[in-house]
This record gives sequence, C-alpha cells and structure tokens, in this order.
Amino acid sequence: MIESKVIIVGGGPAGSSCARELVRLGGECLIIDKKRFPRFKLCAGWIQPDLLEELHIDPGSYPFSLTFFDHFRVHVFGKQFTPAVRQYAIRRYQFDQWLLSHCGAPVYTHAVKNIKKDNSGYTIDDLFHCRYLIGAGGTHCPVYRSFFKKKHPRRGDKLIATLEQEVACKFNDPECRLWFLIDNLPGYAWYVPKEGGYVNIGIGGYLHKIRDRGKSIDEYWQRFMQELQRFDLMPDVDLDPKGAVYYIRNNLRSVQNGKAFIIGDAAGLATKDMGEGIGPAVESGMLVARSIALGVPLDFRSIRKNSFSKWWLLSRFGPALVKSRFF
Ligand SMILES: Cc1cc2nc3c(=O)[nH]c(=O)nc-3n(C[C@H](O)[C@H](O)[C@H](O)COP(=O)(O)OP(=O)(O)OC[C@H]3O[C@@H](n4cnc5c(N)ncnc54)[C@H](O)[C@@H]3O)c2cc1C
Repeated sequence: MIESKVIIVGGGPAGSSCARELVRLGGECLIIDKKRFPRFKLCAGWIQPDLLEELHIDPGSYPFSLTFFDHFRVHVFGKQFTPAVRQYAIRRYQFDQWLLSHCGAPVYTHAVKNIKKDNSGYTIDDLFHCRYLIGAGGTHCPVYRSFFKKKHPRRGDKLIATLEQEVACKFNDPECRLWFLIDNLPGYAWYVPKEGGYVNIGIGGYLHKIRDRGKSIDEYWQRFMQELQRFDLMPDVDLDPKGAVYYIRNNLRSVQNGKAFIIGDAAGLATKDMGEGIGPAVESGMLVARSIALGVPLDFRSIRKNSFSKWWLLSRFGPALVKSRFF
C-alpha cells in the first residue's frame, strides 16, 4: 500500500497547483492520474495574465507556445467588434505537463476506480491510502462520484457541450476571433491561432438550451464551418473534432465532505460568461492546499465568477448581447 497524508486524484491544472502549493507549505502529497503526461486535453487554452503571475510564470522564460492577444475580433449579429483585451493562449498538451513537472510531488499513473472511506482515511483501489483526499479529476472525477454526487449534485443546467480541434497548420489570420449567437447558439465559437503554427477552433454552449432548440452541437459545428469558409479561415487539414462536456460555475454548497475535497472542473468552477476553467482550477487547488496545510477555513467565494465584468461587456457590446446570456 502506498501511503501519503494527502492524495490528489487528477494531475490537470487543479491537481498540479494544489500539489505545488502543498509542497511549498511543507505538506506531503502525491498525485494519481489515469493518463501519462503530456496528455491530450480539449481546451482553447486561453488564460488571463494574472494566472501567469499567480503561478510565477515569467512569459519571457516559459519554454513553450505562448501567444498574447491585445484584442479580439468579435462577430455578432453580422457586425464585427475589436475590443481591447489582455489574454494569453497556451497549448494544454505543453502547459499541463509543464505545471505537473514543476509541482514537486510524485505522480503515479493509475485509473482510480474504487474509493473506500474508513476511520483511518481513504483507500483507493487497495493500492493507495491517505488521510486527505482531493478530487481534481475533471467532469467525471471519481472523488466527486463517490463522496459528493448524491448529497450535492452539480446542476445540470450549468453543463456546457463542446466540439473542438487543435491543428498544426498554416493560418491565414493572426487575430483571435469569436462568434456569438451563430443561428442562436446559446454559447460561442472561437478561432485561436497559436505560436508555433497551431490553430484551435471550437464551439460550446449550454447543453440543455441546445436541446431545447431541437438541435445538436454537431449542427452548430457545421454552421460554424460555413463561417470559417466565408472568412477564408478554414485550416488546410482534414478536421475530426472531438466533444467534451464540463460545468460552469455551480452551487458551491459542498466542495468539502469530511476530509475529502473537490476542485477545478470536478467542482464546476469555470466562468459563467466565457467558460474559462483553468484559472478557477488553479485558484481552487491553491485554496484547498492552504486550508489543509494551514488549517484555514475553505471558501471558494473569492474565485472569479466571470472572465469579464458586466460593465466591460455592456460598454463593448451593448445590452442586446449581454442579455442574450451565453452569458
Ligand atoms: C472545448 C473546451 C475548451 C475550453 N477552453 C478553455 C479556455 O480557453 N480557457 C480556460 O480557462 N478553460 C477552458 N476550458 C475549460 C478547462 O479546460 C477546464 O476548466 C480545466 O481543464 C479544468 O482543469 P482540471 O484540472 O479541473 O481538470 P482537467 O484538466 O480535466 O484534469 C483532470 C485530470 O484528471 C484525470 N482523471 C480523470 N479521471 C481519473 C481517474 N478515474 N483516475 C485518475 N485520473 C483521472 C484526467 O486524466 C485529467 O488529467 C475548456 C474546456 C473545453 C472542453
């Protein structure tokens, strides 16, 4: 049996940040992930500059693809806007591996299936044992399933369906573009060119609203392809997009159950407006680490709910778009 005071299930941004903070505070922990890193992860890879600061990453010395955008090109109701932003894009394949390899905790490759709780703590698949258990396994996290789902299920109306692909290709346009409300999509589509010759294209929206409209995410994808063609932005490779679902900001009534915790996508923390979950994953991981190591009460309310303030959205796009609430 492998013993550790804290075990973190999931080595994405939530798990690796939690481990890094625990190690910094002198704690003992290990990470279990079912995949060997670097691993594929569907994600556009937008991050805010303050996340790099929080992780002590100097943009000049980060060794992988890091693209800076000082504006977006936004398509909505047939019009185009170019609001100023400060946003970076990373490639998850590289970024997550970089975070994990810098967290200072041992990493085990194992798919967690069964978790038992007794007086001494938690036993995982009769192989690992810990006193504190942290669920950082994303949407389908086994810790959420075992200790949170029954009592405090995540809200189904906060589930986002996505289709996405990141391809190596020559791109025609270095601007990051967003399309809102294509055919009344309850979400948005994106075109994110990345340093090193990659483009990430994708689409996401509230699953229940897509169903209410009698549509599927694939239909919206086809419509999005027409938009890309219209603006001569189709990547010059065959596309085979993959789908994933995840929760945006959920009720936070229970992210702790005894000595078990959930963080990142397992808790449902992505921002309500843009569905950005990397920042909230990192923040929640650090908060749980501090709570365990320093004994401070856990409170996720400080984690940002939105990527952009309502004022910022109103001043750039006016009430029509803001009221449409992908948003
Ligand atoms: C298409 C798409 C685009 C997105 N774009 C953005 C964006 O541009 N910016 C942004 O901020 N957010 C974006 N997000 C959201 C973001 O990807 C997530 O919020 C973020 O990855 C959450 O991190 P996490 O560490 O909680 O989970 P994850 O990154 O999903 O990591 C979970 C880890 O747990 C492991 N795991 C799962 N089950 C088990 C098990 N049984 N045993 C062991 N290990 C297990 C997995 O292998 C995985 O490595 C996007 C999401 C999608 C789907």
